[in-house]
Amino acid sequence: MDLKLYDTLTRDKRVFAPIHPARVRMYVCGPTVYDFAHIGNARPVIVFDVLYRLLRYLYGADHVTYVRNITDVDDKINARAAERGISIRDLTEETYNNFKEDVTALGCLPPTVEPRATEHIEEMKALIERLVASGNAYVAEEHVLFSVPSMKDYGKLSNRPLDEMIAGARIDVASYKRDPMDFVLWKPSNRGDPSWASPCHIRMPGRPGWHIECSAMSWKHLGESFDIHGGGIDLVFPHHENEVAQSCCAFHTKVMANFWMHNGFLQVEGEKMSKSLGNFTIIRDVLADWSGDVVRLAMLSSHYRQPINWTLKGLEVAEKALASFFDAASAEADLRPAPTVLEALLDDINTPKAITEMHGLKNAVGRRTLAGTLRFFGFCPDDLKAWQAKHVPEPSLPAEEIETRIAARNAARAARNFAESDRIRDELAKLGVLLKDSKDGTTWEVAR
Ligand code: AMP
Ligand code: ZN
Repeated sequence: MDLKLYDTLTRDKRVFAPIHPARVRMYVCGPTVYDFAHIGNARPVIVFDVLYRLLRYLYGADHVTYVRNITDVDDKINARAAERGISIRDLTEETYNNFKEDVTALGCLPPTVEPRATEHIEEMKALIERLVASGNAYVAEEHVLFSVPSMKDYGKLSNRPLDEMIAGARIDVASYKRDPMDFVLWKPSNRGDPSWASPCHIRMPGRPGWHIECSAMSWKHLGESFDIHGGGIDLVFPHHENEVAQSCCAFHTKVMANFWMHNGFLQVEGEKMSKSLGNFTIIRDVLADWSGDVVRLAMLSSHYRQPINWTLKGLEVAEKALASFFDAASAEADLRPAPTVLEALLDDINTPKAITEMHGLKNAVGRRTLAGTLRFFGFCPDDLKAWQAKHVPEPSLPAEEIETRIAARNAARAARNFAESDRIRDELAKLGVLLKDSKDGTTWEVAR
């Protein structure tokens, strides 16, 4: 069966075939490293990790190159480093290490390459020089600008009317721009901020614009055209539109990437996440309360192109589902998704359908395939057990008191006084202590 993916550029779901049959190449825009990543940032990381796993399964792990960049040149980075009184390198190192810890806990494989913008300045300058030489960019007041009217097809990816694009890009109508839509490829640095020798005979040192970073890093690691380019839906315009403009004009190619994939946005309890609303949630804090696998399953419960409403309820449902999968799955299996799960994923990564299919495998026949499917997704029963062992909630009663009540309940049951035994059980449940009866006796656990 074929893999079908939705392409933002052509606005349809098409059969995926890599440009080189034995070399699948995917680029996803990564984090700007100035602070802890939030739970919205976790969405593209998890979604494209599932696609990466699927591509590795279909084409072989050695035949897939996944590049996710690190944006370590940015005004927010400069401002934060100054605010904290630390060097930019220390800030970006610390933030990147935190990000790596977070996404590892979320069960994501490391990409093949994680290029840093600051290590690709030469490639950016080479691209800029090419664009000036081809008449697609020009130098003005120490800046290099991309000339939007020089590209006939500009705007195809986002497909918006010009006035909307101008409004959306919050365009700064600087006097040196020939056209208000023109965007920065290179600009002077503020005093004290990182700077590099400029291209195009500009004497003042400067720094690259954001969009050129991704054109340069994808070129270096994947070539002039590649298979899949991904990121959140907010990046379609202007970031990805401008990447297409830069790369296609510099290389005289028709396409930068054959498939453009974008994840929908995440909202928290039905509201846009923002610091001012006080619902801004970083991955680190979510991981203090929930295991990474639960967070991952909750994230995959919505289709990646739909918006996702991030709720406590969703996490609770995911935790129950995951525990039921681990209970039902056999201990050993090969890394192999069940055919019905694979079918769902081949249809534009339909993870909600895949999860429904997994529930159908919780029986004697499905045990082994379920275990293989869990491994395929990167879920690990030992991780959940270890997490639960570390996060046992404190009971609201002393343990001896609970044992005394269990003994009283057992005595009531022995005397066939079930009204009394039920009363004791219900009272404990109200206090958050759940009893579990088995043939070996009664155990208790604290409800979460
Ligand atoms: P940033 O560090 O803001 O450039 O974002 C890194 C990645 O996270 C990009 O692919 C964004 O599109 C994505 N992203 C940011 N906020 C959200 C959100 N609330 N929901 C889903 N994706 C997001
Ligand atoms: Zn990018």
